[in-house]
Amino acid sequence: MGTEFLKIKEADEAKKIIKNLFEELYQKKSKIVPIEKSHQKIIFKDIFASMDLPPFNRSLMDGFAVKSEDTFGATDENPKILKCIDRIEAGSFSKKTIKNGECIEISTGAPIPNGADAVVMVEFTDRESEKNEKCEKIHILKSVTPNQDLALQGSDIKKDELLLKENTSISPDKIGVLAAQGIKEVEVFDKPKIGVISTGNELVMENESLEYGKIFDVNSYSIKNASISNGAEATSNGIVKDNYNELKTKIENSLKDSEIVICSGGTSAGVGDVLRNVLEDIGEVILHGVSVKPGKPTIIGKVDEKIVIGLPGNPVSALIIFYVFIIPNIRELAGKLGDNNEKVNAALANRIHSPKGRIHYNLVHIKDGLAYPIVKDSGAITSLAHADGYIKIPKTIELLDKGENVKVRLFK
Ligand code: AMP
Ligand code: MG
Repeated sequence: MGTEFLKIKEADEAKKIIKNLFEELYQKKSKIVPIEKSHQKIIFKDIFASMDLPPFNRSLMDGFAVKSEDTFGATDENPKILKCIDRIEAGSFSKKTIKNGECIEISTGAPIPNGADAVVMVEFTDRESEKNEKCEKIHILKSVTPNQDLALQGSDIKKDELLLKENTSISPDKIGVLAAQGIKEVEVFDKPKIGVISTGNELVMENESLEYGKIFDVNSYSIKNASISNGAEATSNGIVKDNYNELKTKIENSLKDSEIVICSGGTSAGVGDVLRNVLEDIGEVILHGVSVKPGKPTIIGKVDEKIVIGLPGNPVSALIIFYVFIIPNIRELAGKLGDNNEKVNAALANRIHSPKGRIHYNLVHIKDGLAYPIVKDSGAITSLAHADGYIKIPKTIELLDKGENVKVRLFK
């Protein structure tokens, strides 16, 4: 067969085309889940407080609820003596109202009784009579100010205030926040569904025997898991041969239960590279060829209003292209905030030569603040084993010298 590349696109232009296509074809979707199932899901819309917290004025200490004015001037030597008229455990409350000269024994978390405006910690009190004896006299040894050691209703959060922002990832502490508000269900981003296909006559699955000339499939695993770690739900749909009909059927089947299909391999313009022809017949090819190294043979197609991506077969190329061009769009759909690649600065440990006229992504290993370029072909699996991330070298640069400062985008 064999076809020419379409007009090769500059990286920035390719990024824009892909982003626009995602925006044209997909919408962010949400679903409702019980909070127990919300861990690590992402909040779809701002959540507002449904009630004041704390819901009532409550004590922050074990001690005595008092009128603060009754304690003014109290010291160890000159205690103020108050009559204890009731006792409140956490979870219950007192119907009594404190008058001047009175106090109510109170536990941490219990509601402040009427008439009281402060709590004296038990450590700053003495009892004249045995505990549990009615109407005991309490010696207050320290003066307190109004509102001391109590939390006013709504002081934590008031009803209708912003509780959790959209795009927040729900961690255990955030589930606690929802529980505190009595919220039982939460609207979260529905993960985009991705089907992953590897293509190549030479590929075998991990449970098959490796005959001479064959290699184990790598991309199904790396691409599927990179998808998952960036917010998608991904399934591996297996391996297909470089065969037009097989690939066509596999893509059509994958499109039935996936929103995005990601193939790898067979994306060049040579004999046996059938993806382009399949996409042209069942849909359209939007882009074929990006001016980057590695990863020039990248295909973006559209079938049935869904995106079908053809990543280059080399595992390093496939992963880099996926990170640079595709993952940001998947993260957007999945509601994941921020860049997928955490970036760190490092000094280059060795010089790198770079092809002129093409953006070059070079894997690096980081050690002691230095970025060691990995100079192996993009099929070398050990380059992935050693890599911590990659650097981007602009197309105008042919040489980056030892010691130059580079920004490393980390694989996460
Ligand atoms: P292709 O893009 O199909 O021309 O493949 C380029 C190189 O990547 C070839 O050496 C393939 O054997 C290799 N390759 C393609 N797909 C995979 C895969 N899924 N896992 C590992 N290597 C692959
Ligand atoms: Mg191939």
